[in-house]
Amino acid sequence: MRSIYGLSLKDLENYLIENSMKPFHGKQIFRWLYHKRVRSFDEMSDISKKMIEKLKEDFSMEELGIVSMQTSKDGTKKFLFEMDDGSLVESVLMVFDYGFSACLSSQVGCNMGCNFCASGLLKKQRDLRSDEIVSQALMIQRELDKDGERLGNIVVMGTGEPFDNYDNVMKAMSIINEPLGLEIGARHISISTCGLVPGIRRFAKENLQYNLAISLHAPNNALRDTLMPINKAYPLEVLFDALHEYCSLNNRRLTFEYLLLKDVNDSPKQADQIAELLKGMNAYINLIPYNKVDEKDYETSSDENALRFYDLLKKRNVAVTLRQKKGDDIDAACGQLRAKTLK
Ligand code: SAH
Repeated sequence: MRSIYGLSLKDLENYLIENSMKPFHGKQIFRWLYHKRVRSFDEMSDISKKMIEKLKEDFSMEELGIVSMQTSKDGTKKFLFEMDDGSLVESVLMVFDYGFSACLSSQVGCNMGCNFCASGLLKKQRDLRSDEIVSQALMIQRELDKDGERLGNIVVMGTGEPFDNYDNVMKAMSIINEPLGLEIGARHISISTCGLVPGIRRFAKENLQYNLAISLHAPNNALRDTLMPINKAYPLEVLFDALHEYCSLNNRRLTFEYLLLKDVNDSPKQADQIAELLKGMNAYINLIPYNKVDEKDYETSSDENALRFYDLLKKRNVAVTLRQKKGDDIDAACGQLRAKTLK
């Protein structure tokens, strides 16, 4: 049965109209689902019995199964969720000084094949439906409800490539963003892509206010080809063409993510190349420590090299941040927990 969590407010209103009910009940139902976060239709006390019976006939309100939840010393919580077909999906709750942030998965497994990443150890099984993406955020909000806390930020940076599942991800974000939904502001939602150019171009034109993050990880094609197979399809010049278009159509600051891989991409010369690449762009680059993946030989840069890289970019007037490590005691690297559980 179709999950009600896959319907946008508009979808729900259309459904009500098609079934000879008043569309304004859509808002009431949304409030029950996402503000009061009830677990059954029966709890919707201002909805008629007749309408509740009809909703029950047509939709499920099934929650995701929680296979495991690990909590790290820094408060990071890693969830392993089970979908209705038994697929396993990871999500992470992180605590920042600006609030709580959930990292959501967009696919079961991933086909992008980035060399350093644990997600790609398991090829894509399928796309997640929009209700499954919304449900990850809802489950995490329910966990926060226990302490009266509120989820304020979403990053689509878990397993999967969001632009390889564009429609479902965008539908899910619209439900998460909806004021009567999870009510998370567009500017508090970030979508991260490894560089699927058609998705970037489509996103640029839709003028959505979500943040766009690009997984860069290398300053030149030769190195990026070896780290990220997507670079062979969309090399840096093609990627940056699309990014310049995005910047010209949207007055939004781009984010670049750059994993610090020891002796691979952290030399002073490579910092220089990054500065050249980003020159004049409305963008900042987030340097990210690499979470060790057992199956891979990569190591994270030493603190010394990370700081040197950071300082060099600063000197070249690149907007740069150095991210703190989170949850590295609990398999928080993308795909690690799922990979281990399936083993
Ligand atoms: N497919 C999308 C979103 C998922 S990956 C993308 O590529 O952007 C989210 C981010 O986590 C990417 O920047 C990815 O490169 C990074 N990542 C992958 N493996 C990691 C690891 N072991 N440690 C730290 N970051 C990692």
